[in-house]
Amino acid sequence: MDFKLTEEQQMVKEMCRKFADNELAPKAAEYDKTHAFPWEHVKKLGEMGMMGVVYPEEYNGAGMDYVSYAIAVEELSRGCASTGVIVSAHNSLCLSPIFYFGTDDQKKKYLSKLCTGEWIGCFGLTEPSAGSDAAGTKTTAELKNGKWVLNGTKNFITNGGVANVAVAIAVTEKGIGHKGLTFFILENTMKGYSVGKSEDKLGICASSTTELIFDNCEIPEENILGKKGEGFKVAMHTLDGGRVGIAAQALGIAQAALDASAKYAKERVQFNAPIAKNQAIQWMIADMATEIEASRLLVYQAAQFLTEGHGDRRKASRYAAMAKLFASETSHRVTHKAIQIFGGYGYVKDYPVERFSRDARITEIYEGTSEIQRLVIASNVLGDY
Ligand SMILES: Cc1cc2nc3c(=O)[nH]c(=O)nc-3n(C[C@H](O)[C@H](O)[C@H](O)COP(=O)(O)OP(=O)(O)OC[C@H]3O[C@@H](n4cnc5c(N)ncnc54)[C@H](O)[C@@H]3O)c2cc1C
Repeated sequence: MDFKLTEEQQMVKEMCRKFADNELAPKAAEYDKTHAFPWEHVKKLGEMGMMGVVYPEEYNGAGMDYVSYAIAVEELSRGCASTGVIVSAHNSLCLSPIFYFGTDDQKKKYLSKLCTGEWIGCFGLTEPSAGSDAAGTKTTAELKNGKWVLNGTKNFITNGGVANVAVAIAVTEKGIGHKGLTFFILENTMKGYSVGKSEDKLGICASSTTELIFDNCEIPEENILGKKGEGFKVAMHTLDGGRVGIAAQALGIAQAALDASAKYAKERVQFNAPIAKNQAIQWMIADMATEIEASRLLVYQAAQFLTEGHGDRRKASRYAAMAKLFASETSHRVTHKAIQIFGGYGYVKDYPVERFSRDARITEIYEGTSEIQRLVIASNVLGDY
């Protein structure tokens, strides 16, 4: 077992850390306040290869492994959690299904522009009445005169307001549950495609979260993604990668909270001594650091299983779910403690820890809530009985 990062992984870590420290962190509070989409950062991340981290160079990707990808999302999220999820949703949720299930033509057409960041991607699974229960999808797709016609509404879509390309799931055969679902590739310029309500959120405020409305949206027959009836499989495969990305986001937020807390505890003086001299503070710092390190091991291990191949699906699913569950709940606990260490100053916006706490909260919800991760893990451990 080798815990050392490869040269490439170390290079990505340093590059993304520098970018996060110099460009993301100084502006994160302002973006959080204005809710503006960080176009300047996304453009630079495209130039850095971070909008197509694991995809082959023939599609303009950076051709790296999944551990490098997790490290990138972790480091970027340390600086700005909104940027972390923009990168994660784009890479894991839009590019991944096109790469693993798309035709050669689809890969050439879409990945080449998505990997450079020229186009932004999003993933439409959730609907108002289909959240954790993705098989409850109501959006329909019918083949009429050589075109698929989609009708329905997706909600809570990350990158929804800015995406050029959406991959979305719809019912192609009614009455057979998840076996009647199919994925499609849509472009925002297609007839009948529009962006609906934009959400006003607790955290990750600079990321775009919107409805996508398909009103007799016509797409070419060849824009089916994967086989008809294979949609649920595409969704589950995609979410395994996505969950590693969100686990890495949670890890980055937690690390930022620990770094800020350790610095503050040494500077803040009460009772004539830095508050770090109190064992009560030291214990919080120790628990935060230990849980973060345990999360990091789970996240990198889950990423490694993705690199080793999507061959062993059960293993990939189980470890992705464990990494997301543990890292997101760690991020919750760590950011909560960070506010405690800052006292009253932790509760106001002069310091970043209240933002870290708001940003961390969503990692326990999207791409499967903590309850759904526990279901995935338990069913994997228990098997058939
Ligand atoms: C900011 C944001 C960004 C998002 N981005 C995307 C995106 O890009 N694409 C996309 O498709 N979706 C996205 N989502 C949707 C997200 O994945 C869902 O919100 C999430 O899966 C939960 O679904 P729900 O909100 O409908 O909650 P529900 O499914 O209604 O769950 C409500 C509660 O019930 C619990 N629950 C439900 N079923 C069970 C069960 N069987 N056992 C135990 N507990 C259960 C849940 O854990 C939760 O606590 C996003 C959501 C947000 C808020």
